Amino acid sequence: MTRSGGLLADALAHLKPLMDHERISEDARRRLSQPNRVVEVEIPLRMDDGSLRVYTGWRVLYDNTRGPGKGGIRFHPDVTVDEVEALSFWMAVKCAVVDLPFGGAKGGICVDPKQLSRLELERLSRGYIRALLDVIGPDRDIPAPDVNTNETIMGWMADEYRQAAGQHRRGVITGKPPGHGGSLGRTAATGRGALQVLNIWERRNGRGDDHPTVAVQGFGNAGFHFARLAHDAGYRVVAIADSRGAIYREEGLDPLPIWERKNKTKELAGEVYCEASVCSEVEVDHLTNDELLGLDVDILVLAALENAITERNVDSIRAKTVLEIANGPINNAADRALHERGVTVIPDVLANSGGVIVSHMEWVQNRMGDYWSELEIEQKLAARLGEQADLVFGRAVAEEESLRSAAYRQGIERIAIAMDGLGSERYFCGDTGP
Ligand code: NAD
Repeated sequence: MTRSGGLLADALAHLKPLMDHERISEDARRRLSQPNRVVEVEIPLRMDDGSLRVYTGWRVLYDNTRGPGKGGIRFHPDVTVDEVEALSFWMAVKCAVVDLPFGGAKGGICVDPKQLSRLELERLSRGYIRALLDVIGPDRDIPAPDVNTNETIMGWMADEYRQAAGQHRRGVITGKPPGHGGSLGRTAATGRGALQVLNIWERRNGRGDDHPTVAVQGFGNAGFHFARLAHDAGYRVVAIADSRGAIYREEGLDPLPIWERKNKTKELAGEVYCEASVCSEVEVDHLTNDELLGLDVDILVLAALENAITERNVDSIRAKTVLEIANGPINNAADRALHERGVTVIPDVLANSGGVIVSHMEWVQNRMGDYWSELEIEQKLAARLGEQADLVFGRAVAEEESLRSAAYRQGIERIAIAMDGLGSERYFCGDTGP
């Protein structure tokens, strides 16, 4: 592990004890300690008033041993290259955990997209793709939506690639709109998958039939669909937070009408992004985000951004189980503290993999030129996640380790096996095995 400081260093530190395992070759250890490729681009944007701004963007390919890079594009004013590298690393592990034929990648632009008009946002999205034409592609590196990017933005990006390539190559991007090669079921896939993983875990432990209480931090694409489906499945969603604050109702909240009210203002104002907040809800108690994190609930769901739980607030966490839908929402030190206190953490690389699993299905459908029904998509998602989650949970019990260790081990071992398949140092130094 060569990195020091920052999000990627913290993510790699998490991995250190697992990497020192005999099943992981020294070669794989070295190769996984830094990204394969980091591309930085400066994207000029003509604003509606005629002025010019230049935005910095990145595309990082962490590893492509098992297949083309795969990972979302984030638009956020706090995006840094370190964050994109860490997110690309988690993508590499995640794709291997659920046995997809992809490597890991990620992209981002340091921008506050809520300050842009629709046309400015379209020009910036297209500019990002033009700047990265040489590194992305259906067999190279395949972007998808992430924080503040959605299917419309993926549609613009795929269209820009089509114009540059002079042909439809729909598998270049996933999470596209219907009619442009988008897959049914992609929008809800991350939340749906997270609920499925949680259900499997709860049932394994003889729980889940007694309406467990849930608090959800982050009410965007992933958090909303999770909350909606969990509510429908009998979980009692008592609290929901977005970036402006949190709401609480002991008898439970119905996420769908809250989502519809939140989005109504966006529709009325013709905005791309939602400026309204769950905090506009009446007949509920209002909490701070920190208060939501400290609620005494059965399940705390983290569906916002990285580092939601750190040394700063880990002592206030009272939930028995934490479900990581966001990538990297618990830092290394806090994760150790939760583990020591017996709190179960269902890790991001398994819990939020439903999105990339359905993205893989979109890519397969694009290449076949034939499309599956929503039911078929849901069945395929359930089959893959069920099988891989069972493997992770079984490993954790058999090896008496945390779910995070078991999941990371499953992913890293698969990447290492692929790397060693072409010969490792041990092989070339004359040893018998690879
Ligand atoms: P999104 O932009 O749709 O939603 C993010 C939500 O988090 C918003 O409701 C925002 O208000 C809220 N938020 C931001 N900061 C907050 C804070 N400090 N406290 C409480 N809420 C806060 O993004 P998304 O697509 O739902 O992604 C959320 C997380 O899930 C990210 O970490 C992303 O990488 C991860 N993820 C998303 C997908 C997907 O398919 N969308 C797949 C895998 C992982």
